[in-house]
This record gives sequence, structure tokens and C-alpha cells, in this order.
Amino acid sequence: MRAADVFIIGGGPGGLTAAIAARLKGLDVTVVEAARPPVDRACGEGILPEGVDVLRQLGISLSTVEALPFRGIRFLQEGASVEASFPFGCGLALRRTLLHEILASRAVGLGVRLLWGVRITDASELPPCRWIVGADGQNSRVRRAGGLEAASRASWRFGFRRHCAIAPWSDFVEVHWGSRCQIYVTPVSPCEIGVALLSRDSHLRLDGALREFPELQQRLQGVAASSSERGAVTASRRLCRVFRGRTVLIGDASGSVDAITGQGLSLSFRQAIAMAEAFCSGDLTCYQAEHSRLARRPVFAANMLLSMDRFPLLRRSVLRALAYHPPIFAKLLQFGVAESRSRLRIRNEEWRLLPMTQFAIRCKKD
Ligand SMILES: Cc1cc2nc3c(=O)[nH]c(=O)nc-3n(C[C@H](O)[C@H](O)[C@H](O)COP(=O)(O)OP(=O)(O)OC[C@H]3O[C@@H](n4cnc5c(N)ncnc54)[C@H](O)[C@@H]3O)c2cc1C
Repeated sequence: MRAADVFIIGGGPGGLTAAIAARLKGLDVTVVEAARPPVDRACGEGILPEGVDVLRQLGISLSTVEALPFRGIRFLQEGASVEASFPFGCGLALRRTLLHEILASRAVGLGVRLLWGVRITDASELPPCRWIVGADGQNSRVRRAGGLEAASRASWRFGFRRHCAIAPWSDFVEVHWGSRCQIYVTPVSPCEIGVALLSRDSHLRLDGALREFPELQQRLQGVAASSSERGAVTASRRLCRVFRGRTVLIGDASGSVDAITGQGLSLSFRQAIAMAEAFCSGDLTCYQAEHSRLARRPVFAANMLLSMDRFPLLRRSVLRALAYHPPIFAKLLQFGVAESRSRLRIRNEEWRLLPMTQFAIRCKKD
């Protein structure tokens, strides 16, 4: 290890895109990653259209050979379903190991020094540098050591994913809503899907959860698993601050939204661009402000979706209402995912159709 402008701890998607963005600004960058490639992680593996756009800005154009496009989101519950396409572009899905390989090779191609199998336990181990970036995920040590642990709110759920060797039956990411969990299905290649479970119950696993979804269970009956089940915690965490002195956080280390939003990757890519800009201006308060701004819509989406998870009656009536009025679902999706290009314009009469609005009004009165 030798001196660098930027020292990044953690070479996941957040750390690698931060490295690429900083290097594109001409900074000298070193990344240390505790694992050795291929680096995998439990993930739904869908990148939303805005995330795909940011990757393009960073010089990474995922081809359809590497990644499978999906055109929107479909919610399913007890026989009812509603779907909406993204307002612009397509999302892309690919195995995390492949995404990692592509990001790492772009970083190395730009001259980033990547050190595998190095776990940093104490920032004093680091050689001289101008900035230390904590990209070390949910349980960030850098966050703790930097005194950035204070959160305005935090809650957890549990996620498990497995791949199945079956051709995707849809070009939508399907979210199946059940009473104790959600299962979402992402088409990750022409002959493979990813199946991810999200639940508050740490003991629930995919096979047990699938019993709640007979249609999906039947589709997957006898289909070979092409990866083993892998689990991770998914946190909803908002930090009070994402930098102190020369220590700055990105990706899940800097706070996160529940995985049900499918926003984690895209959010960390956008943070990477903002962070590199702030390094150039030398003013990390700009990064703090942009970080909060970027989190707003994903947090809105997460709050809505987690309320549906928590209150079964609400979920049933919301999904039923949306199935009858798909344009409202399209607007909510557009607002939730299209960061810079949309504002939520739902007409008064449409708001009234949403049981969620009525529920919120009732709660307020009570
Ligand atoms: C079940 C599940 C499904 C999800 N589905 C989606 C989805 O469909 N779409 C989406 O956009 N997001 C999804 N997410 C969220 C997404 O996975 C995360 O937001 C994303 O991985 C964050 O990237 P990161 O680089 O910040 O953290 P990580 O991916 O966790 O990477 C952190 C890296 O830091 C390394 N590290 C940790 N400590 C040290 C240390 N001390 N020294 C050196 N290295 C260290 C780790 O080895 C790791 O490689 C999902 C999450 C879960 C749990």
C-alpha cells in the first residue's frame, strides 16, 4: 500500500463506482477489498434505468450479452396483479459476480489500484491519503471509527436469494406479496432467474416461504437451483451525517433503503458521481446535501412499500385498487424510480381512489 489521494475501504459496487468516478476526475485511487474475486452477495440483481444511465456516464455500457433488460415492475397478490413499464429505458439484471467483474475491470483499466483479500481493521493502518472512503457495507467499521454511527432511524429485515436454471417467463421484475414476506423474481439471463425473499422473520427461508405462493412454487417445481441460498440483512437506515473530517461514506455504509425498493445499487452509483464532484471542489458539504437529496425518493418508495408489508389489510386494498387503476401504479413507479425526470402528479380524484390515502387520513384523525 502506498500514498493515494483517495483510499477506498470496500470494493463492492459502491466502492468500485466511487473509485471509477474519482479516477475519471484525475485522482489517484486505491481500493482495498476484504474478499477475493469472484465477489458475490445476496441481492435481487436488478439495476433500475437511472442506475444504468449512471453506469454509462462512468464508461460502462452493459450489453445485452452480459445483462438482461427488464422493462418494469409487476406486483402480484392472491391472483390479482398490476404492472407498469419504466417511463424511460429499461432496467438491467445480471449476476452480482459478473457486475463485480465488469466494475473491477473498468476500475483497473483506468489505473485504480485494487488490493484483494485485505481487510482494514483500523484506519491508522492506511498510508497517507487525502480522503478515506468507507464503502464497507451495512456493518461499516469505517462508519463506527469515524464517529458517523448516529442515525435518525434504522430498522432491519432479512433477505435470501437463490438462482434457478429456468428461462424467464417475463421481462418484468415480479414482486409476489404474501402475508409474512415478499418474493421477487428477476430475469438475470436467458436461462436463469434470481429468486429473492424479504421478510422480518430471520428464520424464514425460500422453500418455506414459497408455500405461500402456490403458482410460483408450481413454476419452480423440479427446477434445478443454479446457486446456493445466500442471505443478508437489508436495513432502512438514515444517517445524520455521511462525512466527518476526511472520512466519507458511500453505498450501504452511508445508510440504505430496504431491498424491496430495488434502489440500493442505483443509489450508490449516483452517490459515487456526487462524491467525485465533491472531491474536486474540496467541499464535502456538497456531497452531504446531494446524498440527502438522492435518498428522498427511495425513502418515499420504501416507506410506502414497508407500510404495505406491515399492514396486510392496507396491502390487500392498495394492490386491489392499483390493479383496477394501473395508471396510478405507473405514476407511483415513475415517481419512485425516475429521479430527475418526473414529479408526482396524481390528480385529486386518483388520490381518493387509493386506500392508502384514506388509511393515512384515518390514522391522522385517530
Ligand atoms: C436480499 C437483497 C436483495 C437486494 N436486491 C437489490 C436489487 O435488486 N437492486 C438493487 O439495486 N439493490 C439491491 N439490494 C441492495 C444492494 O445489494 C446494496 O445496496 C449494494 O450491495 C450496496 O453496495 P456496497 O458496495 O455499498 O456494499 P456491499 O455490496 O456490501 O460491499 C461492501 C464490500 O466491502 C467489503 N468490506 C467490508 N468490510 C471491509 C474491510 N474492513 N476491509 C476491506 N473490505 C471490506 C466487503 O467484502 C464487500 O465486498 C439488495 C440487498 C439485499 C440484502
